[in-house]
Amino acid sequence: MIAPASFVDLDSSATTPVSERVLEAMRPWFRESYANPGSPSPGGERAKMAVSEARAALAEFLGAKPSEILFTSGGTESNQTAIRSGVRARPGRRRVLASAVEHSSILGLASELEGEGIRFEKIPSRPDGRIDPEEVARRVDGETALVAVMWTNNETGSMNPVDEIVEIAHRAGALFHCDAVAAAGKVPVDLGGVPADFLSLSAHKIHGPKGVGALFVRSGTPFFPLMPGSQERKRRGGTENVPGIVGLGEAARESRSYLAQGGASRLEDQRNRLEEGILALWPGARRNGPAEPRIRAPHIANFQFPGTPAEKILLALGREGIYVSMGSACSSGSMDPSHVLLAMGLGREEALSSLRFSLGRDTTPEDIGRTLAALSRILAQETARRVS
Ligand code: PMP
Repeated sequence: MIAPASFVDLDSSATTPVSERVLEAMRPWFRESYANPGSPSPGGERAKMAVSEARAALAEFLGAKPSEILFTSGGTESNQTAIRSGVRARPGRRRVLASAVEHSSILGLASELEGEGIRFEKIPSRPDGRIDPEEVARRVDGETALVAVMWTNNETGSMNPVDEIVEIAHRAGALFHCDAVAAAGKVPVDLGGVPADFLSLSAHKIHGPKGVGALFVRSGTPFFPLMPGSQERKRRGGTENVPGIVGLGEAARESRSYLAQGGASRLEDQRNRLEEGILALWPGARRNGPAEPRIRAPHIANFQFPGTPAEKILLALGREGIYVSMGSACSSGSMDPSHVLLAMGLGREEALSSLRFSLGRDTTPEDIGRTLAALSRILAQETARRVS
């Protein structure tokens, strides 16, 4: 066991547990039907069929065609494939524009690309964590191969006007990539209204398994594999991760019905209760990110607790079996302030006094109650410490 028997997971933007249905859907593909989908046998045919059913489920989830879905090892590979492929697809252009609040799997490519003579420039964030289309319009030019702006930010829940940004990128002849890892399953991600060229998803953020994801590549967009090979219609080499892909397909179906049944508004109610509770009990607590529901995802609350190091609150909550985070999981373990909060204009101290609470499908009203009660105890201890 890595956690107390009854723990509260308010870190579901870091990862989610595999759902029962996903686990059941995956199970036969480990031992009973383990054939390689590339093998010309009845078992191989069955595996191939399972992969294509999962592809159809993903396409339906995103409003895309099955031929536009490529399975990968997760959000990181999808993001990096999109950027690398986009740069190669526009050989005369030597510039990539990415928002300053992108995930590290995109921003981390900067120095490599720079080393290859590609300029990597960040689009600044507004104080609410959103990207202003005007800022994109000011920067994008005939040298720009690709623009990358995420659908929803994974630390603040800020939602970007990607429908407007994609048009601006296209008008300048640049390709557009969208990281929808944090958005999927929480808000509708419909490619019908957003003509992106590339879009990334990750299974483990939507109750699927780790190590599998998808990349949407719009038909007609020139594509260059990161890992050449014969699988995935020559777009990605390596034997397909059949159980993982089947799991991702099932996770997409479940997410679709969860959203169709009003899951997002239930999530939002719980998140609002948490936020109202924090604001009522912690004097001076400040929300990081937008307040308006229209421009924020329903599952994230990011707060500054001025004067108290967030690490202290995080550890105290952890001792009570309540898990939250100080930014994206990928940079946790270090005490660096979140690059997202810094890009929004917070100072180092402010960023280091900020915590992210991310709710999920399994979050219960009791979880919110337990968290608020624990925060109230932690605050009382803090106050006593300051007075003494
Ligand atoms: N993009 C975002 C917004 C993420 O939150 C993450 C995971 N932290 C990733 C990409 C990377 O996904 P994966 O873990 O599947 O590589």
